[in-house]
Amino acid sequence: MTGNLLDGWRVEEYGRSRDGVALRVFLPAADGPVTGLLIAAQHGEEAVTALLARRLLERVSGHGTRWAMVPVANPDGLINGTRQNAAGVDLNRNFPATTWRPDESFTYPPGIEDERRVLANRTNLSSPGDHAGSEPETRALMALVERLQPPLVLDLHSPLELVLPRGDVPAAVVEALSRAAELPVVDDVGGPCPGAFDDWLLDVGIPGIVYEVEHAGLPALCTRHLPGLEALVRAPNGAMPS
Ligand SMILES: [Zn+2]
Repeated sequence: MTGNLLDGWRVEEYGRSRDGVALRVFLPAADGPVTGLLIAAQHGEEAVTALLARRLLERVSGHGTRWAMVPVANPDGLINGTRQNAAGVDLNRNFPATTWRPDESFTYPPGIEDERRVLANRTNLSSPGDHAGSEPETRALMALVERLQPPLVLDLHSPLELVLPRGDVPAAVVEALSRAAELPVVDDVGGPCPGAFDDWLLDVGIPGIVYEVEHAGLPALCTRHLPGLEALVRAPNGAMPS
């Protein structure tokens, strides 16, 4: 079922989406603690992040890493081409972080060009959920994090082109990722993200990195981002090679 390009990965269903699609995690070949968890496509409009994660799964054997990967955290959104899940909820506003708010959130429509990213065009409306943690995808991801206890989580997004460390992320990891892809390191994304996954990670004491790629096609994104991401997931004990 997983295709013959994937070597050494154990695939597990860790839950089901709102529309009943399997949520799948790729675990390293050997049992035991993971050194990290990479997740992609929490926003379904950011399909390119799922493809990047897929390329990573193809290039790195499950025997050659201690990282776990969730290439598609929001399969309903990915299938429908929407940021939100099938219930219209932005999963990255649905986590029971102390920052969660009941207000609807406005973002840019999927695929909007960079030059049109001005406030007046923030017309894509999302619900944060009836209550924090209302969505099955959110709860399943929380349960997965609680089970795996990754020392580091990397959350792939698009298109802001930045690295945002949250919590106690090793400086060497941030520097190596930033250097490999020439990405700026920032300390916020320029707007509030209440109920975000990385806010919840911060609350539960797990270091997280929001890694945003630019608006570009897959070949360009692979050239720029795969070397640093591959070095990270291949590094023994989660430490980056210098
Ligand atoms: Zn996103």
